[in-house]
Amino acid sequence: MRQQNRMGVRKKIQQRLGYALARRLPPCEEVAPVLSASLDRKLTLRERVVTRLHLLICAGCRRYFQQLLFLREAMHRHAHHFENGQAPDATALSPEARDRLKRALSDE
Ligand SMILES: [Zn+2]
Repeated sequence: MRQQNRMGVRKKIQQRLGYALARRLPPCEEVAPVLSASLDRKLTLRERVVTRLHLLICAGCRRYFQQLLFLREAMHRHAHHFENGQAPDATALSPEARDRLKRALSDE
């Protein structure tokens, strides 16, 4: 029982700190572009502190940042597809598929 009370008090303190922090930090709309910029440049000390604190209390921005990191990682992993400055043409048919299609159409 006593242990439960202590946990309850701790949770309340964390919640109050979270609210106090949230009131002093910039909103998501201001933090999101900084998160995005952090992939391209080194953030200033102030930007780093503010974004880290914001990420502590904001699940939405944490998810957004994880998605940014995932996309960057995927782009790096598949960079060889984009080396000539063009995206791969995913809609193009293979030569075999093109031949099959031509044969099927000429048979009719
Ligand atoms: Zn946020």
